[in-house]
Amino acid sequence: MDFSLNPLGASAMGNTAWEDPNDRVRRQKKASQLSHAATPGPGGYQQQGSPYGSAAAFQANAQGYNVPSQDQGYFPPVAAPVVQPASTSASTSQSYGYGQESGNMAGLTASFGEMGMDGHAAPAPRRKKDRHAYHQIEAPAGSSQTFNGMPQGPMGTPSQFLNQPLPSPAGPYANQQVTPAMSQFPAQAGTSMQQHQQQRSQQPMGAPASSAQGRVDPEQIPSIPRSRDIPADFYLDHVYPTMEQHLPPPAAIPFVAFDQGNASPKYARLTLNSIPTTSDALATTALPLGLVLQPLARQQEGEQPIPVLDFGDIGPPRCRRCRTYINPFMTFQNGGNKFVCNMCTFPNDVPSEYFAPTDPSGVRVDRLQRPELTLGTVEFMVPKEYWAKPPMPLRWLFLIDVTQEASSRGFLEGFCDGILNALYGSGDDQSEEPGSTTSRIPTGCKVGIVTYDQEVHFYNLASGMEHAQMIVMPDIEDPFVPLSEGLFVDPEKAKTSITSLLTQIPSMFSRVKKPEPALLPALNAVLGALAETGGKIVCSLSTLPTWGPGRLFMRDKNEARDTDAERRLFTTEHPGWRKTGAKMVEAGVGIDFFMAAPSGGYLDIATVGHVSAISGGEIFYYPNFHSPRDLLRMSKEIKHTITRETGYQALMKVRCSNGLQVSGYHGNFTQHTFGADLEYGVIDADKALGVMFSYDGKLDPKLDAHFQSALLYTTASGERRVRCTNVVASVSEGALEAMKFVDQDAVVSIIAKEATARITEKTLKDIRNALTEKTVDVLAGYRKNFSGSHPPGQLVLPENLKEFSMYILGLVKSRAFRGGREPSDRRVHDMRLIRAMGPMELSLYLYPRIYSIHNLDERDGFANENGHLRMPHALRASFSQIEEGGVYVVDNGQICLLWLHAQVSPNLLQDLFGEGFDDLKKLDPFSASLPVLETHLSAQVRNILQYLETTRGSKALTIQLARQGLDGAEFEFARLLYEDRNNEAQSYVDWLVHVHRHIQLEVSYDIPQFGGKAMAN
Ligand SMILES: [Zn+2]
Repeated sequence: MDFSLNPLGASAMGNTAWEDPNDRVRRQKKASQLSHAATPGPGGYQQQGSPYGSAAAFQANAQGYNVPSQDQGYFPPVAAPVVQPASTSASTSQSYGYGQESGNMAGLTASFGEMGMDGHAAPAPRRKKDRHAYHQIEAPAGSSQTFNGMPQGPMGTPSQFLNQPLPSPAGPYANQQVTPAMSQFPAQAGTSMQQHQQQRSQQPMGAPASSAQGRVDPEQIPSIPRSRDIPADFYLDHVYPTMEQHLPPPAAIPFVAFDQGNASPKYARLTLNSIPTTSDALATTALPLGLVLQPLARQQEGEQPIPVLDFGDIGPPRCRRCRTYINPFMTFQNGGNKFVCNMCTFPNDVPSEYFAPTDPSGVRVDRLQRPELTLGTVEFMVPKEYWAKPPMPLRWLFLIDVTQEASSRGFLEGFCDGILNALYGSGDDQSEEPGSTTSRIPTGCKVGIVTYDQEVHFYNLASGMEHAQMIVMPDIEDPFVPLSEGLFVDPEKAKTSITSLLTQIPSMFSRVKKPEPALLPALNAVLGALAETGGKIVCSLSTLPTWGPGRLFMRDKNEARDTDAERRLFTTEHPGWRKTGAKMVEAGVGIDFFMAAPSGGYLDIATVGHVSAISGGEIFYYPNFHSPRDLLRMSKEIKHTITRETGYQALMKVRCSNGLQVSGYHGNFTQHTFGADLEYGVIDADKALGVMFSYDGKLDPKLDAHFQSALLYTTASGERRVRCTNVVASVSEGALEAMKFVDQDAVVSIIAKEATARITEKTLKDIRNALTEKTVDVLAGYRKNFSGSHPPGQLVLPENLKEFSMYILGLVKSRAFRGGREPSDRRVHDMRLIRAMGPMELSLYLYPRIYSIHNLDERDGFANENGHLRMPHALRASFSQIEEGGVYVVDNGQICLLWLHAQVSPNLLQDLFGEGFDDLKKLDPFSASLPVLETHLSAQVRNILQYLETTRGSKALTIQLARQGLDGAEFEFARLLYEDRNNEAQSYVDWLVHVHRHIQLEVSYDIPQFGGKAMAN
């Protein structure tokens, strides 16, 4: 346990022998669940009648399928013996607890009902099967009726829109005059600081004040699954209009955004959609003012494509003073002769080519025909002065490790197959037309192939040659490119030679078997080949590169933790690797790595991955690579890498309104000096960054605050463009409005990205402590300044930060920051991942989606009456949710586990895995996908997995089996149950209690007479 940040110095939670009271609750609950488990659940699988009615797509397949008879349910007929959660001790004889409402519990429930979570009276305590009884969010009214393709009324006066009353009961707050609804749970009654001190020193650790004796109902604390499921259902049938509502949907759910002049949250999320006028006011919230940008984010079906606008040789109109690009928030004056910059208020002359008169209200008459004046996100073609070199279609270079380890572990063959499949598709790919020859990369792109072990081998793939010609470059001290033509070819024209080469490489090198790769010389050699044009390298690596210049050695000896020595493992000072990385960025080159450690070995990802991190690339890491299990995943990820939207030679700049300034950037890129543009060798759809702002003055409450990011890049198809993303926020005196319109996902993203940047100066333990302190500061700030009057003993959470503390706990428990042992490779990998992740991927990473599939409703996993896939609701990440005989899908966006309880029904197994697979032990532990079977359950689960696959970041979805008591992946399952005590940190309940106690301390420090200042609203 590492929670020693008690400001008073007492060791509040430092005792590792301390028994988690939740374990008792959990045990109790576990026992009570068994009675559920013995009878078929209400939503169970064995319903009668045709389960196929709603499933047109699967009807044909489903014929002839036998519905299991009623008495052959998936659950064992008799209650099985109590199964203990692995981490608990034996005692189960407590007579109190969850499920038996004591007076205490009833009081709690009443208290919840009185204050109302989300404005509703809390329902009576319910069994968790009652999943449709969740509280409702007041229906946000922004609806599809605004989605008629035309901007609505407010568009006429955009610059002031946000300061005007909402036109309809639009936002979740429309019916509320004051603070957002609060959720809370009572904890320890208000006590003075002295009392706290006494309690700390006197209390045995087994009885932390508030969570003892089951007073905190784990079902009642804010639930991340609920916070996602309810909006997800809502946004199935509603679009998100970007100007009418100022609170974006949760990042983890799919939604269709309608761009009304403010960019879609998929591209940009502000932490605060209403910004206080002064830095002092902001400080009362303890929240960061930041913007999370994902400029090339993937769109979803139903969204309008980003328009590409060409202003010819004059280029897009820009403010002469601050260089802001034309956007919907610039206003026109003097009959259309001047445009006033929304950032710096400078009145610019309108170029004659761009002139249009204004109507009596001051709006340009051609406004609605001008996407740059109506849309938050547009792209401009740019003329020559924006070019670094003549833009050309992207060059892809595959740099393939052919050393012994790669060859003998199936990695080399898998990588070559993956490239082939990515370039040309394969026969078994269902989405491809059979015999399709269309390449998946944009027309004009070229492909080159280079292999390396202790030497570097180039290949002449020139069309007309049946077989590629290998040219060995032996001089690894001074690498050069040994051929001038034929290295890069059109993948369509050279399909024969590329296919034959990639097919032969594995056998060619199975006879050579050189053990040590010379990676840095290989990188320098291929960099030479791309120096003139820029491009993207996709490189495989199977073992620590220990040969030639830049050779690395085993640095991670797994020694001291939380020391400077450990900290150095997370970065690199190696001059050779740093230099190569810098040269790559300069040349407009970036690199993605596919790294496998077949024997779990050390790869020095800190050093090797540095070139990828600073050039805007990514690492696909297979820490315990196993062929064939990981081949499907690798193949999908190579395909994703080359098919996702990719740009190169990119520069990025973020501008903001007068009164604010950029104070820092967090992400994977290069910035030479503070204030300089960010440089990316490459950038793709999955990459995000965080931008921090500070005040350099006071904001004018009569104006809005504006932000614009401009990404200058060359598209994969070879066009030089600027993608502009415009975001607007209202400005208000004081910070109450800021608390109302706080975006939890953006706050968590900014804090997480900032935490990864601290790794060069602080130990992991310090970072974890700082994260805890930040959580306390934010929630205490709210309690002190904005929550109104509540009994001091209650934890009051801001409505829009209800799940904030759980997300931060997820961060504290993540591989990047968790206490305890974790190989440095995995830590560095995850830190860089967090730094570059978009909000959706991060949300899933910090809290997984868990679905039970043994008791699906028969309609789950099929289209509903409106054609949308009906998803089951997700479960809390806690072992207390696990049922006897249950089967669960656990997906955190990085891996997807299929966890199967030891007592799982043989019928379920056969429905999922096929005839004959009626026992867990008969399953193939290395299977990565589910077979296509003509059973209802098989179709449901495969549809659900397909849905999950479309809603995630860059990592492919394949399944990994975690059979209870059989597979190592069970540890990963336990690690991901973030609401439980694990990863050397507290359970969610205890974490909240801990945070609450510190909030009380802070509040009592600052406000002796509680309640005075709290009435600021
Ligand atoms: Zn300006």
